[in-house]
Amino acid sequence: MQGLMQDWPLTCDKIITHAKINYPGREIISRQVDGSITRTTYGEIYDRARQLSSALQKRGIKLGDRIGTMAWNNARHLETWYGLIGIGAIYHTLNPRLFPEQLKYIVGHADDRMIFTDLTFVPILEAHQDGLPGVECFVIMCDRDAMPETSLRNAVCYEDLMAEGDGDVSWGRFDENTACGLCYTSGTTGNPKGVLYSHRSNMLIGMTAAMGGALNATGSDVCLMVVPMFHANAWALTFTGPMAGMKLVMPGPMMDGKSIYELLESEKCTFSAAVPTVWLMLLNYLEESGKKLPHLSRVLIGGSACPRAIMETFDKDYGVQVIHAWGMTETSPLGTVSHIEPEIAHLPYEEQLSYRLKQGKPPLIVEMKITDDEGCDLPRDGKAYGTLKVRGPAISKAYFGGEGGQILDDGGWFDTGDVASIDPLGYMQITDRSKDVIKSGGEWISSIDLENAAIGHPKAAECAVIGMPHPKWDERPLLIVLLKEGESATPEDFKEFLTGKIAKWWMPDDVVFVDDIPHGPTGKISKLDLREQFKDYVLPTV
Ligand code: ADP
Repeated sequence: MQGLMQDWPLTCDKIITHAKINYPGREIISRQVDGSITRTTYGEIYDRARQLSSALQKRGIKLGDRIGTMAWNNARHLETWYGLIGIGAIYHTLNPRLFPEQLKYIVGHADDRMIFTDLTFVPILEAHQDGLPGVECFVIMCDRDAMPETSLRNAVCYEDLMAEGDGDVSWGRFDENTACGLCYTSGTTGNPKGVLYSHRSNMLIGMTAAMGGALNATGSDVCLMVVPMFHANAWALTFTGPMAGMKLVMPGPMMDGKSIYELLESEKCTFSAAVPTVWLMLLNYLEESGKKLPHLSRVLIGGSACPRAIMETFDKDYGVQVIHAWGMTETSPLGTVSHIEPEIAHLPYEEQLSYRLKQGKPPLIVEMKITDDEGCDLPRDGKAYGTLKVRGPAISKAYFGGEGGQILDDGGWFDTGDVASIDPLGYMQITDRSKDVIKSGGEWISSIDLENAAIGHPKAAECAVIGMPHPKWDERPLLIVLLKEGESATPEDFKEFLTGKIAKWWMPDDVVFVDDIPHGPTGKISKLDLREQFKDYVLPTV
């Protein structure tokens, strides 16, 4: 027997329509490329997204077409997404930090018909447009009077394109499983692979992120959306924001500590989300300037492990609650969130912290388990660690174009490439990425744990640990440190600092100081580049 409830496809046009009806005047604030601040509302975003949809339809854009966006977080970018989403076209976020070869590959593979770009990226696209032959036209997201001289093919100013439309368009009216957005994973091995989100998966992840056990998003929140829209749907905030009626503040290109602080302060932001690197820059700025954070109540930290020092400093010095989360492009991306649940609420601070620093528990729509090398399930005892596998309605079942072939096992589980444990309370903890874990004498050393211990050193700005070949132990850890400006230190200083904080046999065999630590396209430390950089290095213990 079927239920007798209405058929209401979960298509994402309904999200911005909801915001238009219920929170029309709630603001979206954007930092533009030139540093200026502009203000708009959900009402205006909706109207302009419809206008854009009609303009795109007049140019022949239709259901299923892929359109690239190379843009910072700003109102035009959000408008563009919803303008595409409404007519069933697919936003394809392009990470501007991609290498030219990757960019050409991705745009070609996705068969993007148009590219929307912020002014910042016009020179990059000009230089490489010959390698993007399928792109019919480039839309430059600026005011008319800021429109640059450009050699980009069929370049059109965003506002001129907008003026071609009349807002006469019908949105939705397609199946909820229709493709909605496309985002390629960085692909540390082989070519980047396209994760193709559906309307239904985006709707579900947006609702999930809003829940109390996740971000607890409400219309009273003012959200500084630092995590870029090209980084896995800005962790669902592009959907959760308008669903919950959050005022959104978009930092554009300026993500240094001072700029982030200015927006947190001037817009009285209550909530924000970003990778640890951004928070390190903010905390350094606060320390130097003596500023405080009177409005901010909680921050979401994910993308890589949250160091203990960041959580403690936010807690103790600024009274800001850190919510640690784990996910990946393939998980839309919210996979787990770490919260203080009743079972740990009474624990002393230090003990509680060790739970909060874990990656946490999955929401309803994510099932999770760990397995050994033979694929057998491992116990949830907090000790056993193995391959982390997930399944659910907002998790990839294949990559765009069938790249990578079959990616689920017989049980429908997706292998995350992470190594993790799950404790009896259900908190998952990432040990490491399987390719980064250091295999020493048959045992595993977590590079994440070592980095997080080392970053607590007051002179360290950033730390990375990689495994180096060792004839006796197979691999041993090398600690790579970028010191804070003007500081100096010796390897012994760091080893002394680590003593007692890590198992004895985890002690790095050497500590080297560098002027720069390379980052990948989503702002995370690039172990791949570090391994390349240190390929001729020999440990003193060899
Ligand atoms: P990439 O980093 O390759 O660009 P993703 O953004 O999809 O692609 O990264 C997902 C990976 O990031 C996860 O598989 C995991 O290794 C790592 N990650 C994400 N969040 C966390 C976290 N809170 N703690 C530790 N690792 C994390």
